[in-house]
Amino acid sequence: MAEIAIIGGGPSGAMCGEQLARAGHQVNIFDEHLAWEKPCGGGLTHKAVEYFPFLLDNPHPKKLVRSIDLISSTEQHAALELSHPIVIYSRAVLNGMLLERAKAAGCNVQRSHIIGVDTASAKPRYCVEGEWKAADFLVLAAGARNQLLPETRALQRDELEMTQGYFVPQTADSITIKFLQHFEGYIWSFPRSDHLSVGICGSMSAHTSSELRGHLNTFVEKHKICTEGAKFYSHVLPSPQERTLCDRNVLGKNWALIGDAAAWVDPLTGEGLFYAMRSGELLGRSLAEGCPEKYTAWVKAAFSAELEFASRIVRRFYRGSFLGTAVTTRMVQFLRRSPVFRQLVGDLFSGTQDYTSLKRRLWGHLGITLSEFVSSVLNLDRPASTRVPRSSSAAD
Ligand SMILES: Cc1cc2nc3c(=O)[nH]c(=O)nc-3n(C[C@H](O)[C@H](O)[C@H](O)COP(=O)(O)OP(=O)(O)OC[C@H]3O[C@@H](n4cnc5c(N)ncnc54)[C@H](O)[C@@H]3O)c2cc1C
Repeated sequence: MAEIAIIGGGPSGAMCGEQLARAGHQVNIFDEHLAWEKPCGGGLTHKAVEYFPFLLDNPHPKKLVRSIDLISSTEQHAALELSHPIVIYSRAVLNGMLLERAKAAGCNVQRSHIIGVDTASAKPRYCVEGEWKAADFLVLAAGARNQLLPETRALQRDELEMTQGYFVPQTADSITIKFLQHFEGYIWSFPRSDHLSVGICGSMSAHTSSELRGHLNTFVEKHKICTEGAKFYSHVLPSPQERTLCDRNVLGKNWALIGDAAAWVDPLTGEGLFYAMRSGELLGRSLAEGCPEKYTAWVKAAFSAELEFASRIVRRFYRGSFLGTAVTTRMVQFLRRSPVFRQLVGDLFSGTQDYTSLKRRLWGHLGITLSEFVSSVLNLDRPASTRVPRSSSAAD
């Protein structure tokens, strides 16, 4: 039975701890806040709920949302109906539930701030409450702001997004996503069971925090969202580039990074909860098998191709144009006109359609203009063998 120390009890750390404790290891999880309201939308897509059914099947408060209002920078709206709901949690509730599962599996969960780690000797060490302790393996699950990075580099500005937002004591039934002109990111409003999480994310290398604050304040005023007395938050979000996913070291001989610390986040949407939980689970399983080296191969097989794909198209999506108009505006226009396109984008949003298998769906089902549009955003070549039906039009 190996002794494993996990630094960070968010979704990635808690999920990893649960796997390891179930396999009979002695696991200590350290978190400076435990179950807290971490700045987040709190939205879980269908792929997360399908893979971890307990996320839906539990008595904890959550909101199931089936519609999204997409707004272009030119204020055109398109409504998306989702075939599978997005499940939205308060992070205090989600983190609390995951930590309870880890405890029930046998983890020792302790509220402590870890101030240093040392992986140079055979047994890795960590400094807790002024004392250095040793473990057999160190799991670094301390999130995107984390400075505890032995033998790997910190994320750079162009690998991070800034986020700002409010928890507003008000409710709604649909998600709102607003795109902005010449802006790499978006504004969101996610309704939870008893409040809204309204926020903005934008590339840290392309935008300033005052720019973000200005856009967010304009949005809340326009949408009559009262932020008086609402709690303001700001945080960072990994936005991996191809080089982050391919070259950054996330595994050493006696340590590994998971979740945001490893930058496992979709750079296009900012979805990180599923990848945090999945990477925690995969590291837990590889350690339980006594083969930590399997972790990176399993991550690659499970989801890193998706994240790499998103990292290749993110700039074109937010900054590019199609037939002289911003891609995000064109997308909203096409959504208004085409039910088939609405279905496709709805599936992308709810997580039932992944990026990598999108190509197959494109040419058979969408009209020519829409297929050209999606292919240009995704930088796809038209498959030679597939014939596009001549009668199709952008309006389907
Ligand atoms: C504003 C915002 C909105 C988002 N919205 C969504 C969304 O709607 N859907 C989605 O899927 N993803 C979203 N994300 C991403 C998601 O929040 C993260 O991907 C996810 O929380 C990562 O989980 P994690 O366990 O890796 O890290 P975290 O959740 O950040 O957990 C890290 C934990 O480590 C602890 N910690 C840090 N340092 C130390 C230390 N030195 N000692 C002890 N403990 C420490 C912290 O207290 C924290 O609990 C959003 C992110 C942001 C910033």
